[in-house]
Amino acid sequence: MNAHIILDDAIRKIPDFPKPGILFYDITGILVNPPVFRECIDRMVELYKDERVDAIAAIESRGFVFAAPFAERLGIPLILIRKKGKLPGKTYGCKYNLEYGTAELEVHQADVKAGERILVMDDLIATGGTLNAARNVLEQGGASVVGFFGVVGLPFLNFQSVLGTIPVQTLIEYHGE
Ligand code: AMP
Repeated sequence: MNAHIILDDAIRKIPDFPKPGILFYDITGILVNPPVFRECIDRMVELYKDERVDAIAAIESRGFVFAAPFAERLGIPLILIRKKGKLPGKTYGCKYNLEYGTAELEVHQADVKAGERILVMDDLIATGGTLNAARNVLEQGGASVVGFFGVVGLPFLNFQSVLGTIPVQTLIEYHGE
């Protein structure tokens, strides 16, 4: 790991995107910088290398880009949690509330094994609503969620109150806009 790499330098902050009042944290600056991207995956591996995790579940679509190299490095399965209508097989689904309106996530039933210990991840945790819906679909298949991970966390939006007692880890946190 390289302590000199500052993740914050690679995360662009875009005010009023996608709508007025939102400060958008853009992680694409990490992906276009191979040493920073590698450092990010190294730090994720360091956080979880001694944990008993059977599989990683990742949220479409920015969650996928961090989860794929991470799961490959840990040598464990990667389960894709997608927006409704994208997965061709039989699915478990969960509707959840967005700031305006609702959304729905799905996972292939065949990918979730009862009793598995799963780490759920996304690029960024804001209110925690998306990760909580992901937990719901995995629990429908009898798995347990043993942790949540976001490259970026916004704890001032109180995600921990939505995610309960399940541990949450992030690589970088921002504390207000
Ligand atoms: P939430 O369900 O509120 O935790 O929102 C998390 C999801 O919305 C993630 O998939 C993020 O990519 C996206 N998201 C929410 N807020 C932001 C933000 N300020 N900057 C970038 N992405 C965000």
